[in-house]
Amino acid sequence: MTGKQRRVLAIVATDRTFEPSRHGTAAVWVGACIHCKSPLTIASDGTPISAATIEHLWPQRHGGDNALANIALACGACNRGKGKRHDTRSKQDPQLLAIVEALRARRRERWREPPAELAAHVAWADGHP
Ligand SMILES: [Zn+2]
Repeated sequence: MTGKQRRVLAIVATDRTFEPSRHGTAAVWVGACIHCKSPLTIASDGTPISAATIEHLWPQRHGGDNALANIALACGACNRGKGKRHDTRSKQDPQLLAIVEALRARRRERWREPPAELAAHVAWADGHP
């Protein structure tokens, strides 16, 4: 399992939209894109089955880190879509702060204590900033 897979599972663990489900015979987690709420399917080893990417709420290019409160999962369409992408805005753009605040509020609303089977990934992510 790569660091990226563990980080994805740490996000799944702390986002209450993600519920255990099945994809064929495989156990998966299904939750919602942080932007458009479309369903995201993540394998139990952290591999995205539907296109899903790690979204930094405060953008990495402006110094945003991998703290769990700063990352969420976004669908492929939102990651590619110009209208949804906020990381292309300049640090001074007043709309950037408004977008980031709205995303942080959504992340907080969705926050949950990790299910036991995913707690180790959360501990790992907290130790790897
Ligand atoms: Zn989306």
